Amino acid sequence: MTPPSPPVPKALPSRRHLLENGARFVAGASLAPFWPGGSAAAEAEPKSPHAGKSQRIIVIGGGMAGLTCAHELVERGHDVTVLEASRRTGGHVKTLREGLPDGLDADAGAEHFTRPGYDHYWKYVGKFDLPVLPWKRRRDIYRHIDGGWYTEAQLSDGKVLQRFGFHDREIDYLREHGWTELASLYFDLHTKRFTDEYQPFGVGLDDLDGITLGDWLTKEGASDAAVRFCGGRRTSADKPATRNDVSALFRLWQAAAVRLRGLPNFKREVFHLKGGNQLLPDTFTGLLGDRVRKNSPVKAILHDDHGVKVRYLENGRQAEVLVDQVVLCVSPLLLSTIKVTPAWPKEKAYALANVAMGMQSRVLFQSRTAFWKDDVPSINLETGNSLMSLVYQTAEEVEGESCLLMGSGRPAQSPEETLAAFRQFYPGKAADTIEKVVVHQWWKEEPTCFGCERLPFALGELAKLWPHLITPVGRIHFAGAAFDNLPWGMDAATRSANRVAEQIGGVAKA
Ligand SMILES: Cc1cc2nc3c(=O)[nH]c(=O)nc-3n(C[C@H](O)[C@H](O)[C@H](O)COP(=O)(O)OP(=O)(O)OC[C@H]3O[C@@H](n4cnc5c(N)ncnc54)[C@H](O)[C@@H]3O)c2cc1C
Repeated sequence: MTPPSPPVPKALPSRRHLLENGARFVAGASLAPFWPGGSAAAEAEPKSPHAGKSQRIIVIGGGMAGLTCAHELVERGHDVTVLEASRRTGGHVKTLREGLPDGLDADAGAEHFTRPGYDHYWKYVGKFDLPVLPWKRRRDIYRHIDGGWYTEAQLSDGKVLQRFGFHDREIDYLREHGWTELASLYFDLHTKRFTDEYQPFGVGLDDLDGITLGDWLTKEGASDAAVRFCGGRRTSADKPATRNDVSALFRLWQAAAVRLRGLPNFKREVFHLKGGNQLLPDTFTGLLGDRVRKNSPVKAILHDDHGVKVRYLENGRQAEVLVDQVVLCVSPLLLSTIKVTPAWPKEKAYALANVAMGMQSRVLFQSRTAFWKDDVPSINLETGNSLMSLVYQTAEEVEGESCLLMGSGRPAQSPEETLAAFRQFYPGKAADTIEKVVVHQWWKEEPTCFGCERLPFALGELAKLWPHLITPVGRIHFAGAAFDNLPWGMDAATRSANRVAEQIGGVAKA
């Protein structure tokens, strides 16, 4: 199948107009000392970030956040250039087609977005009229728990719930609200106190950053089963709290943000773009045209009150540019590869160095038939096995004999061990018809896409990381999956990109 082509660009500020104020790109420039306070800095007209003038802006990173931000800034009348380290744009949004039969496609990275939720993402789906498909992957989930497989109906059966160790109040709640809503029983009373989703402090719960979720739930009357299934653990003298435990405040704040957006705890209704989610970054890239420079890794940033100088390689040659603002849209795990002068302020440096990012490989099984049909209650599996913790079918809409099962795994694992794990946990009796296994290991395939979604902050660290993580440093702004309150991949990327575009502001109309 030919990938859907990006729509024809709609009107944007003219390139000629922007070139008049253009960023000064100096490929192969001499890198004589010039900063801070040197001649190049003095040359740059000091500009307030909110001066209402067209500004020269470099966006570093052409993933979902960088492209969204560049698009928004161009629409606001700025002269924007995206510097992308690799030879493709999209970052962790990448659709695989090569080597798949019958025109099948599969997203190696971000596979879905939800409704409700993902408001900014949906804004672009509407604006560019992108084709959307609903996806049943979160319906009728079949879960592997403590050695047994359970349908959703079984998980609202009082006898089953009692066997797991829930007490009566929890059982009543789960029977009424469903398995995925357990945390709400304990959280709802407290999440109501938050009024600003970007502000976790000052609602009388600040002390809860020092207590683990498990210990707090226990105090709230939760059973051991509830503590476990809410993702916490009770600490003890033998097993004291560690940095890996999540704090009660962190979890309550995250749940409050979900609630303030009017979203359910579990977002069951998910969607993807027909032909692959890469269609949106491809659309942005098409619209941005020669404002996007691929194969241009940024190596250094020098900044002061007057402007920002960015040093990068363009097709291997050293280059530099002096601009008014920079938007950093790369994973915090890669920021150490960019030398920043003067160094980040202490609080920012701590936040950037201590934010943890998760990494997952994409697993695909190409099968000759849908062998699971009439064999298991559902192929939407929650397996409890880290080699393929979720399993579901993708590209169902593509006609043809072959089928694709999808999941995600550890950052590094082999196709052989992945298939062996599947064959061990698969709950049906039918022999599978898997012909090919693909494990897309991001760190190998795309070394500049390193760390895809932010992990919970370490116990007791909330005030050290937030809001410093997202706060701009002078003329340098931060957008991306790591730089928003909720760490939901493309939602955080598009939302934070819009936040930064708002921060920078638009060009005042004459
Ligand atoms: C297996 C998997 C499943 C996922 N599932 C979902 C999902 O279902 N829904 C969802 O919303 N999200 C999901 N995600 C997460 C989502 O893909 C990412 O969070 C999101 O795409 C990150 O976008 P970003 O722009 O912040 O960062 P990135 O995608 O990491 O983009 C950063 C860009 O910066 C470039 N770069 C790095 N260093 C430099 C440098 N020095 N100079 C210039 N450029 C540089 C990189 O090459 C990259 O293109 C998933 C991710 C994976 C891996």
